[in-house]
Amino acid sequence: MQSHSDAVIPFVFESLPVRGALIQLQSAWQRMQLGHEYPPPVLEVLGHSAAATGLIAQSLKFDGTITLQINGDGPLSMLVMQCTSELQLRGMASAPGVPADAAFPDLVSNARCAITVDAGAMERPYQGIVEVCGDALADSLENYYLRSAQIPSHLQLVSEAANCGGILLQQMPGQDELPVDDWRRLGFLAATLRSADLGDGVGADLLRKLFVEDDLRVFSPRSLAFHCRCSRKRAAEVLRLLGESDTRSACREQGRVEVTCEYCGRTRRFDAVDIARLFADAPGPASDTVH
Ligand SMILES: [Zn+2]
Repeated sequence: MQSHSDAVIPFVFESLPVRGALIQLQSAWQRMQLGHEYPPPVLEVLGHSAAATGLIAQSLKFDGTITLQINGDGPLSMLVMQCTSELQLRGMASAPGVPADAAFPDLVSNARCAITVDAGAMERPYQGIVEVCGDALADSLENYYLRSAQIPSHLQLVSEAANCGGILLQQMPGQDELPVDDWRRLGFLAATLRSADLGDGVGADLLRKLFVEDDLRVFSPRSLAFHCRCSRKRAAEVLRLLGESDTRSACREQGRVEVTCEYCGRTRRFDAVDIARLFADAPGPASDTVH
């Protein structure tokens, strides 16, 4: 079977009540880094977050969005990663002044990781929060699954500049008992996944190499892509929040105001005429007159 880049592959173990998914991100991951100069430790956490969020989103049974957000007092002050059930991904981190050799625990003092599942306008979003602890993000996310969803999980995440990815194994609820030794063995094997294994993409061959003793049923891969949902209308809302007098004075100084999206780097420009129109109907809600 061939290998696929920017893809997630679901699978189940034929003889054990365990399901899983294997993900690799390449173009989407490289696009996410464009315009940012993340130091290596931040790049690693961002890549782990991208892979984890893709793994969670691929399991959604409804149209919705998964948002993983880390906030803390440490040098990594904020990280946001979003993936829709259509597997469109975007993310960014704010971490000024991180030393190139910082270890994960140094980045995330007093940090919390919130995972929000938003099923659209029909339902209230569900949010689970875990303390960020351990040597890598995967430790916190395994805790999240155990505490929020009562699903024992093994999660291995890998990340470097060229690609990132990971593997998630989960016990299937309501099935036969899974022997502890088997569960431990699968966790050990999942933890052997390395970035180098993902260089050529992912496929059934890689899964069968990781779990050579087990019968797997491997499903069709699904593609992931970078996609930012920013728009001129949302940029206009940023200026409305800034307020009319600040926006007008910034425009007077520079001749125009620019709003740059932190996710995709796209800049939208507003001149004096745009700004006059923008605030003509203020303080009402977002207007359809701005496109
Ligand atoms: Zn954007």
